[in-house]
Amino acid sequence: SKATLFDKGSKVNITFADVAGLDEAKVEVMEIVDFLKNPKKYTALGGKIPKGALLIGPPGTGKTLLAKAMAGEAQVPFFSLSGSDFVEMFVGVGASRVRDLFKQAREKAPCIIFIDEIDAIGRARGRNAIMSNDERENTLNQLLVEMDGFGGDTGIIILAATNRPDVLDTALLRPGRFDRQISIDKPDVKGRETIFKVHLLPIKISAALDLHKLAEQTPGFAGADIANVCNEAALIAARKGKESVEMIDFQDAIDRVIGGLEKKNKIIA
Ligand code: ATP
Repeated sequence: SKATLFDKGSKVNITFADVAGLDEAKVEVMEIVDFLKNPKKYTALGGKIPKGALLIGPPGTGKTLLAKAMAGEAQVPFFSLSGSDFVEMFVGVGASRVRDLFKQAREKAPCIIFIDEIDAIGRARGRNAIMSNDERENTLNQLLVEMDGFGGDTGIIILAATNRPDVLDTALLRPGRFDRQISIDKPDVKGRETIFKVHLLPIKISAALDLHKLAEQTPGFAGADIANVCNEAALIAARKGKESVEMIDFQDAIDRVIGGLEKKNKIIA
């Protein structure tokens, strides 16, 4: 989902406990959190702390959530922007926004900068882009200049999310830029069960609810879809005047979300 436009170094209360599943990705990002917490421990022997990591995976799988959780765990401010915010921007505005963001981040370091949908800015030259090519290139160049302009010991970690790593300009993937890549896949049945658990916490559910069954009935669902199902089910049960949410309400909600997903796919196709 959308990172709020220019999250300007806000404090984050989200932690790894809010992120269900994604065990391998969590191990990798925990390393990065430790870089932020104890930079000297890592630079002691002459090593260089990585500046950035790319979170790769389909929409709604928790990339933004994980990035926020990293800021929450490290207890550092969270800055964010989305590549799609740069679409149809006036000449020079994209680059100056990037410059402005890094200026603020340097003042608040240690911190995390999150760039959602980086492919909107970082597409390889010559590909059909949404933005005019010149403007997109200016924005991308400014991002590269900023990334090269600080050392790994500055305490700024830049995370970027994409579901199209194949279209990215290779300049972004060079050492000293986004040199780590973390894949965030759609959850398997076990993963879906743990995601259900997290999103059922605030909901009054019937004692007879079968979590495993719910996970089995939702193949191909991303975390965002599961969050959606839980919310829909609660609304469906409430509309019926029930005291708690039952299996049948979840089944109705799942059908509804599947219907929504099918519509979305039709529009895309
Ligand atoms: P997009 O590429 O569309 O921006 P994203 O991968 O950044 O998607 P998020 O915005 O992090 O996805 O996920 C949207 C919402 O879905 C989260 O706020 C959360 O409620 C839920 N969600 C997704 N993945 C998980 C997960 N692994 N655990 C718990 N909740 C999740």
